Amino acid sequence: MFDSHKSDPIPTRTVRKQSRQASQVVTTDICVLGAGISGVAAALEAAKLGRNVVLADAAPAIGGQAIGSIIGTIIGLYNHEGENAFQITHGIADDLIRDLTAEGALHRNRRFTVNFQYDEVRLARWMERKVEESGVRLLVGAILTDVAFDQRRVRHVDFVTRFGPVRVQANGFIDASGDANLTYAAGLEVREPEAPVYGSLNFLIENYNLEAVKEPDKNFMLANISHIETPLDPLGAATMVLEGRRQADGILRFLQDEFPDIFKNARIRSYGNPGIRQTRWIVGQRQLTLADIRNNDRPPDAVARCAWWVELHNTNELVHWERFADDHIYYIPLSCMVPREADNIIAAGRCVDADTHALSAIRVMGPCIAMGTAAAHCLDLVGNGPISEVNMRTLQTRLYDNLERRD
Ligand SMILES: Cc1cc2nc3c(=O)[nH]c(=O)nc-3n(C[C@H](O)[C@H](O)[C@H](O)COP(=O)(O)OP(=O)(O)OC[C@H]3O[C@@H](n4cnc5c(N)ncnc54)[C@H](O)[C@@H]3O)c2cc1C
Repeated sequence: MFDSHKSDPIPTRTVRKQSRQASQVVTTDICVLGAGISGVAAALEAAKLGRNVVLADAAPAIGGQAIGSIIGTIIGLYNHEGENAFQITHGIADDLIRDLTAEGALHRNRRFTVNFQYDEVRLARWMERKVEESGVRLLVGAILTDVAFDQRRVRHVDFVTRFGPVRVQANGFIDASGDANLTYAAGLEVREPEAPVYGSLNFLIENYNLEAVKEPDKNFMLANISHIETPLDPLGAATMVLEGRRQADGILRFLQDEFPDIFKNARIRSYGNPGIRQTRWIVGQRQLTLADIRNNDRPPDAVARCAWWVELHNTNELVHWERFADDHIYYIPLSCMVPREADNIIAAGRCVDADTHALSAIRVMGPCIAMGTAAAHCLDLVGNGPISEVNMRTLQTRLYDNLERRD
């Protein structure tokens, strides 16, 4: 029994903030900005290669949109050849599929194409465990404030956290921020769409009529049918949190009115953070275009393979879909991941350089994992040197599973 009278008070000290708090300085080989699926893939792969890695994110926990926006389904890991479909991205994707399937937290689905529905709580813990085991140093709640950039190189990046400033010095930097925030903060050119590409706020519905839905192993459903703008303006972005939730409430009301037998008692269990599709991305050495991905040409600097379709959310009401032939495969070149004004930044994920249509195809999670993997290997190979000097043959040999394997 706890007796408060018998325990001594914990001694305290009185402190005052110094007028200018010095940054804690961390030195590393590779600094990854953004701990979404792309950044986590990059950090884990770089650590596996023996590199010292810092993984930083503004959110208080890792996972990016995969977790915080309850995306719920991983697509783009397979091609679309029906019974003959094969996995086009391996590496950490293999570990993820194996471990989460064993836990019952990942369900392989063959509707339209192979995709994987995941439990976002289990995936978050998997990412955290993997990061911990890999020795990656994690910096969460860390918002990028400044980038020291000269002679085509990032020298260090500064973060503000609730507990004081932190500076990270590294040889190489991976911009996995989704919105090209590292590249932008370095003062380099970036692209923004002239018209909105809409995001969505995903949400989970529970307490509906389980028997009517006929999915005995699930007691919740994921809804992804709202459309919201995702502006880069801070106040505008905040407004969209409420707008997305309002739309979600409206969707539930609609379901209750139209399908009372199923949804009469349903309620929303959780609202994701606004899911951002395409806001700002780098100007690469080269831009991947819709024509490139329609074409099966393989660029000489291919580092990742894709099969996902064009899925551009460019009007509030509609989605522009363009499906490719079942055996269609296209490639992401390294040159669209490297800002043309920098020698030691590689972008990975939804902020690489592609036109709006091509980006809408390559930003799904399968290719994000492949790009993160490629970014890690590339920086591992170049060390202190410029990315342009990477030995492409060696890089592609290392990426064999993601470029050639067909089992
Ligand atoms: C509504 C919606 C539905 C989708 N559906 C699917 C689907 O079914 N299947 C699929 O595979 N893909 C889907 N996608 C696409 C996919 O989810 C995303 O493109 C992918 O998760 C992006 O991963 P990322 O790592 O590139 O970026 P993010 O997950 O956005 O991660 C970027 C991270 O960087 C951090 N960051 C950004 N700026 C800073 C800063 N200044 N300082 C510090 N940290 C910073 C953020 O906090 C964030 O954690 C969907 C996307 C949306 C929006």
